[in-house]
Amino acid sequence: MAKLSLRFTPYAFAKLLFMRDIGDTEIGAMGISKKDDALLVQDIVMVKQKCTSSSTDFDEDGIADFFDAQVDLGRHPEQFGRIWIHTHPGNGASPSFKDEETFNTASLLPTGP
Ligand SMILES: [Zn+2]
Repeated sequence: MAKLSLRFTPYAFAKLLFMRDIGDTEIGAMGISKKDDALLVQDIVMVKQKCTSSSTDFDEDGIADFFDAQVDLGRHPEQFGRIWIHTHPGNGASPSFKDEETFNTASLLPTGP
């Protein structure tokens, strides 16, 4: 089986670097995938949230507004509801212990038939 990799367009990667460098807290966002390439992140959209140096907590109404806006743009949930991204100020890109716990408990959207 071919190795699958999550990739970013230069635009999306620039936004991720901006998020990383803008402050001292973690910042969370959702990755927007290309319609025909689920592993190519073409944009990053921040959701209303509370942030600390070691956590992000999305606002429930913020998530609802984000989903509504994405549907209004004609996107499908598999394009905007799968890739949760957050920064680790000062700690690199490797998942934290808390991230590993989240990976093990998070529910995933269906991938289709
Ligand atoms: Zn993390």
